Amino acid sequence: MTARDDAREPAPVSGCGVCQVLVQDRELAWKVGNLEAVAERNVALRGHPHGQARGGNPRDGGRGGS
Ligand SMILES: [Zn+2]
Repeated sequence: MTARDDAREPAPVSGCGVCQVLVQDRELAWKVGNLEAVAERNVALRGHPHGQARGGNPRDGGRGGS
């Protein structure tokens, strides 16, 4: 396992600051050969929400007290 497999890595979403930071961290991790850190960044890239792209506020549904 020496070659980098870009196809398996999640791509950053443009306009997402979290993605930008994560990919920068991931590049740094690749440079130093820290594959564990690379894997963590990939998990974070896949796992964090991009709710604003769907145009809905997840907290805005449900109980509306009036
Ligand atoms: Zn993102």
